[in-house]
Amino acid sequence: MAPAPAADLCAFIDRSPTPFHVCVTVAAELEAAGYLWLGERDAWPVEPGRFFVVRGGSLVAWSTESSVSPSDAFRVVGGHTDSPNLRLKQHHDLSPEGLGVVALEPYGGAWLHSWLDRDLGIAGRLALRGGREVLVHVDEPVLRVPQLAIHLSDRKPLEVDPQRHLNGIWSTSRGSFLDLVADRAGIDVGDVLGFELMTHDTQPSALTGLNGELVSAPRLDNQVTCFAGTRALLAVEPVEGVRPVLALFDHEEVGSTSERGAQSDLLATVLERIVIAAGGSRDDYHRAIAASVCASGDMAHATHPNHAERHEPLHHIAIGGGPVLKLHPNLRYATDAPGTAHFAEACERAGVPLQRYEHRADLPCGSTIGPLSAARTGMLTVDVGAPQLAMHSARETMGAADVEPYARALAAFLAPA
Ligand code: ZN
Repeated sequence: MAPAPAADLCAFIDRSPTPFHVCVTVAAELEAAGYLWLGERDAWPVEPGRFFVVRGGSLVAWSTESSVSPSDAFRVVGGHTDSPNLRLKQHHDLSPEGLGVVALEPYGGAWLHSWLDRDLGIAGRLALRGGREVLVHVDEPVLRVPQLAIHLSDRKPLEVDPQRHLNGIWSTSRGSFLDLVADRAGIDVGDVLGFELMTHDTQPSALTGLNGELVSAPRLDNQVTCFAGTRALLAVEPVEGVRPVLALFDHEEVGSTSERGAQSDLLATVLERIVIAAGGSRDDYHRAIAASVCASGDMAHATHPNHAERHEPLHHIAIGGGPVLKLHPNLRYATDAPGTAHFAEACERAGVPLQRYEHRADLPCGSTIGPLSAARTGMLTVDVGAPQLAMHSARETMGAADVEPYARALAAFLAPA
């Protein structure tokens, strides 16, 4: 497959400050490769081809070019488009101490202290009068959440209160922040009837360390999977009787329950419509699901050199050590033995090593879309990922050498032997 270098990942992330922008970035790559953007209101083409749909901040893409029967198996790579951040409240204009301040609130499990003292931009989508929607991406440092000086906090780190300590300064005088956003989007603020706006670090992603061996970037969790999954889908040599699918969901960081999250009907509906468009029945859909496997891709905890004791002793994960299989006995991850075998085989065929992660039993473990989408679709699912440090920080770190093998393993998974 074409290389998926870490520099391309950095460009992907910098273009994609929000789930909506992730979908646009992925859509552009898919369209360039001949994928056709379908609306959910469209009747779907009967002829085999390459297609995708977007529902808000979620996207599902698939190829039926190698399909021979409506009940053919699906091979799905899943992931999520959202990342923790600070979002704009509806009534947000404050003016304490005569300053222009906007009220922000955390989305998902943002590691709050990491958002302080950063040059923040604002991005998201605006719903306009007349039913129009526009995306906005103000990639300028228009906001900043300053820390309290050490001299005013008893020299102890202050616990960050999500209600009181996360408001952002944007002006030395009072004003309307939405005016600024509408102005940058080139629209009349009076036409903005709804908005979902969120902050992002405007410092570009970078290759750091000796010879650029590390990636320093926001939103590695989980745009690495969005990037690698897209590259995998575009690179895959489809196997006869197997339909490769990429499913990227919004709202994973807040539990996936929405019209477009992994607990929604999005993936199941898309797959059923693929079967029906191919002339199949509902029974054919269930037969297809019974033959299908999903690799739920999300980031994994590399062993932190300063905190190695926080990791399960026999399951240390190396930066640069290749893709990671994620297991949890209490199903925070969906992985079981047959799923493990499917992904291990894909890694073997791709010629990449596979690391196995287990979380310490005395620490609460995060989750992924894996168990939720498995429950929703009934599909055998395996949780996998790529290693990183500082998960949920505004700025995360991974190994540059882990990007390409991850994409290669996912591509092999999409085309089983
Ligand atoms: Zn994640």
